[in-house]
Order: sequence, then C-alpha cells, then structure tokens
Amino acid sequence: MNTTSSNGSSHRSGSIAVIGRPNVGKSTLVNALVGAKVSIVSNRPQTTRHRLLGIATFAEGQIALVDTPGLHRQQGKFSASAMSRVMNRTARGALEGVNAGLLVVEAGRWDDEDSTAYKVLHDTGIPVVLCVNKIDRLRDKGELLPYLAKATDGREFTAVHPISALKRNGLDILVKELLQLLPLAPPMFGEDEITDRSERFLAGELLREQLMRLLGAELPYATTAEIERFAEDGQLLRIGAVIWVERESQKAIVIGKGGARLKEIGSKSRIQMERLFGRKVFLETWVRVREGWSGDESALKAFGYGDG
Ligand code: GDP
Ligand code: MG
Repeated sequence: MNTTSSNGSSHRSGSIAVIGRPNVGKSTLVNALVGAKVSIVSNRPQTTRHRLLGIATFAEGQIALVDTPGLHRQQGKFSASAMSRVMNRTARGALEGVNAGLLVVEAGRWDDEDSTAYKVLHDTGIPVVLCVNKIDRLRDKGELLPYLAKATDGREFTAVHPISALKRNGLDILVKELLQLLPLAPPMFGEDEITDRSERFLAGELLREQLMRLLGAELPYATTAEIERFAEDGQLLRIGAVIWVERESQKAIVIGKGGARLKEIGSKSRIQMERLFGRKVFLETWVRVREGWSGDESALKAFGYGDG
C-alpha cells in the first residue's frame, strides 16, 4: 500500500480489524461508523458468524473495518462445536494485512476472554486501540476512571476511547484517532460502497438476524439461512430463502402456530432488506431439515461459513 499519497493530499485509507469477545458491540460499532446496517446485531453471543468489511468513508479518509465473530474460549456445549472452531479461525484470520486493531470491551467488565482477545491482537504487533463500549450503561460514571486504569494496566494501547456505539457517543474522536493510524493513500472503495459483501449475502444475514432475535433458547444456534433465489424484477427484488434447522421438532418451532412465527420472521426480515437495499422486496421462506449441519464442517462450508 502507498505510504505517500500520489497527489500530495492528506487522505488516509486502510483497514482495521474489530476484535473482542462475543456481544461487546463490535457489529453495532461497525454499523455506526459505516452509517448503515451492514452487520447484523442481536443480544445473543455469536450473532456474527462471518468476516465482513464495513466501509466507513469520511472527508479525511476511508476506513475498511473488518467485523469478526467474537473470539471466545472453546468450552461448553455450543463453544466446543465445529461452528465455534470455524468462527475463532475466522476472527484470527481477519488480522492478516490490517493496519491496526480495535479491541472492543464492555465498560465495567474485563474477563478472560477479553484478555485472550487482547493477546491475539497484541501478538500481531499492529497498533491496538482500546474501545470501551456501552458507557451509557454505567450507572455510576465515577466507575469509568478506575476501570480504564485497570484495563490498561500492564497492556499496551495506542489510544483508549470510552464510547457508546448504540448512542453514537465518542465516535467522532475515535474516527480521527483511527484515521491517524492509516497510511496516506487514496480511497480503496467508491464513496457509496458500504461493504465487500453482496446484497445476496446481506439478505441471508438479515434473515438470520431475525432468527437470532425471535427464536428462544438454543434454537438460533441450530438454524442458518440460505438464499436460493435473488432476482431483480424491475424495481422489485424477488428473494427466496431457506431456513435450515437440525430436527423436525425445530422446524415446527420456527414455523409456529398456524405459521405465525415464520410470518413474523419473514416480514421483519423483509422490512430490514427494503431499508438496506432501498427497494421493494418480495420474500418467500421455506424451513428445511438437515440433521447435524452445525457440527459438520463440510455442511458449514456449503452454507458459506469459514470463507473468510
Ligand atoms: P458483537 O457480538 O460484539 O458484534 O455485539 P453486537 O453488536 O451484536 O451487540 C450485542 C448487544 O449489545 C446488542 O444487543 C446491542 O444492541 C448491544 N449494544 C451494542 N453497543 C451498545 C452500547 O453502546 N450500549 C448499549 N447499551 N448496548 C449496546
Ligand atoms: Mg457481531
């Protein structure tokens, strides 16, 4: 990559990996910086299963944010699974070739998984910025300073930023800081590009977001979405999607009484798709069973997991 800009301008561009344990708000932050929902969000850990670029364009520069699945310890029922292995691999792989790393943690909390994420970033030798997210949730603002002191003790950070990704607090100054870590270079992506992923991929993710949000207990981890049809029909997008589950009993739960749950999942997904694509969407969904898909690495591959 250029380290000096060809036309002598002060424009910066490069990529930054967003790393942290599950559920700290990495995807919320990426979306807030991009200004659109390119990465899905829910209050469940392991919502993000893929590597995805969120492209944030500013007058002073362009940041390609690499959103990643949360780095987590492989323990417990779900975490010992093939999916869990694939996701940890994806998160680590996202560090290749980036200019800096953004470690996201939750204000007031630091546990072993945060330490692991720090170590993974620190070991790469790239500059690491600490983002202390969810400061809106701190009841006592006086807790912040002692927390920052503890979090940074014995660790090397280029900068530390308390923020709220949800409320968009502290983001302007964070962006300024991040841009300084990037080389002087022209933009890598067009001004209106917001992600490296296709609309087809994003449609599958938006459907999966509703599965994460609307299905209770363990079920979200046994489901995935596959877009079978993605066709433009004038101003309309016709999308056909399959929701894969692992057992017949799960299929019945996804469909719900009289099809009510599937209908809700479909209509909420469609609204999100229309918002992101700026077009009317006609969405059809089917639920199908494929036994044990989440524990089977070849099935995961077929569903697009582990492709970066
Ligand atoms: P990820 O797993 O690290 O990508 O986390 P997500 O972006 O999916 O967010 C996990 C949960 O935290 C979601 O329910 C978000 O709405 C919530 N969240 C993210 N950022 C903030 C924040 O700044 N404040 C609060 N209160 N909640 C947040
Ligand atoms: Mg995420």
